[in-house]
Amino acid sequence: MKQLPDAQRQVLAAMRPLPEADAPLAEAAGLALAAPVRAPHDVPPFANSAMDGFALRAADTAGAPVSLEVIEDVPAGSVPAKKVTTGTAVKIMTGAPLPAGADAVVMVEDTEQQGDRVLVHVAVEPGSHLRAAGGDIEAGVSVFGAGERLDARHLGVLATLGISRIRVRRRPRVVVLSTGDEVVTAETGALAPGQIRDANRPMLVGLLEELGAEPVDMGIVPDDEERLRSSLQEAAAACDAVISSGGVSVGEYDLVRRVLGELGGVEFWQVAIQPGRPFAFGFLGDTPLFGLPGNPVSVTVTFEQLVRPALLRRMGARRLFRPRVLGRLAEAVGTEAERLVFVRVNTVYRDGVWTASLSGGQGSNVLSALARANAFALVPVGTDHLVAGSDVELEMFRWPEERTFEEVLG
Ligand code: AMP
Ligand code: MG
Repeated sequence: MKQLPDAQRQVLAAMRPLPEADAPLAEAAGLALAAPVRAPHDVPPFANSAMDGFALRAADTAGAPVSLEVIEDVPAGSVPAKKVTTGTAVKIMTGAPLPAGADAVVMVEDTEQQGDRVLVHVAVEPGSHLRAAGGDIEAGVSVFGAGERLDARHLGVLATLGISRIRVRRRPRVVVLSTGDEVVTAETGALAPGQIRDANRPMLVGLLEELGAEPVDMGIVPDDEERLRSSLQEAAAACDAVISSGGVSVGEYDLVRRVLGELGGVEFWQVAIQPGRPFAFGFLGDTPLFGLPGNPVSVTVTFEQLVRPALLRRMGARRLFRPRVLGRLAEAVGTEAERLVFVRVNTVYRDGVWTASLSGGQGSNVLSALARANAFALVPVGTDHLVAGSDVELEMFRWPEERTFEEVLG
């Protein structure tokens, strides 16, 4: 059996980054930067007021209360024409440029306007309520590094820098297909004896969308060598990666294995993880193929551990692996010692500790327990039992909202 880190190393070493592309900001979310971003100008672009108030010389306020002459009014978007000199002030709105000569702003709450004069009640330090030019980002600095994946917040920063198109790695197109004569679509009405509905395909499509890849759904392929061969070849020609599920163990009907074996370029592994031991990996032409097991929980574990990091690598991302936290098991778990076990748990933060409870049955077919989980509790190779209260590493495969209205506000 192959240890998981060896399998990950081998898969990742084979991943070549996708070509670069210029994407409009609106289409760049989820993608990784192909090159570092340098700031073409300061942000903010000019010194401006952080408050509605009066721009003045801080030294003039030393003997507060003091009365100053108001020489101009500067709303946001307009530019001050006059210079602040000793004994004068300019009325200023949040975001408006600081007039020449001023070195501080006093907020309107600390003043009293009296005709064309203002009475300032407080003494202020130079720099108060000011935002310096470049105080957020200085012109010329590297703002984000190559390999950083863009989310909404990055897009906001890029927009403030006047960057409307950005150099990224292209969004991967990933074919998903299910195999098995017993597998039918969710739209199928009454199931015939022996049939089950396809869970893997909609799940993989969704996982790919969450990742920022473009899924290409190729449906269900029956256990027929000819159909499998042509589907896999067609898929590989049309995309950046192929993900199949089912048919990779050693049963007589595990035709994916046989067909891929004949096509060449694909290896069959026994990875020392539970669930998800059988795994096929290789290339059809230039296209990487991931042959996942059939059971849905095995599909998610192998996707998380081997496919997702590989796709992120192809996307040019620098960070590939989910966050882990140290938590505590609320109950005992028994596992097998030969493999790294991914126990499906629901983790909540209770009294300062991430506390993990089994989210349901641990069979590799029990998808409902996975759907109720937010983490894998990792039971390492060589350990077959963890008592309640054990420290355990938790891999957060999702981190959704957890607190209800009543819990927070009720
Ligand atoms: P296999 O490796 O093809 O023998 O599949 C292992 C188990 O996973 C069998 O019980 C299959 O019925 C089940 N399975 C295979 N594909 C799917 C699928 N797309 N959705 C749900 N279960 C599946
Ligand atoms: Mg099958």
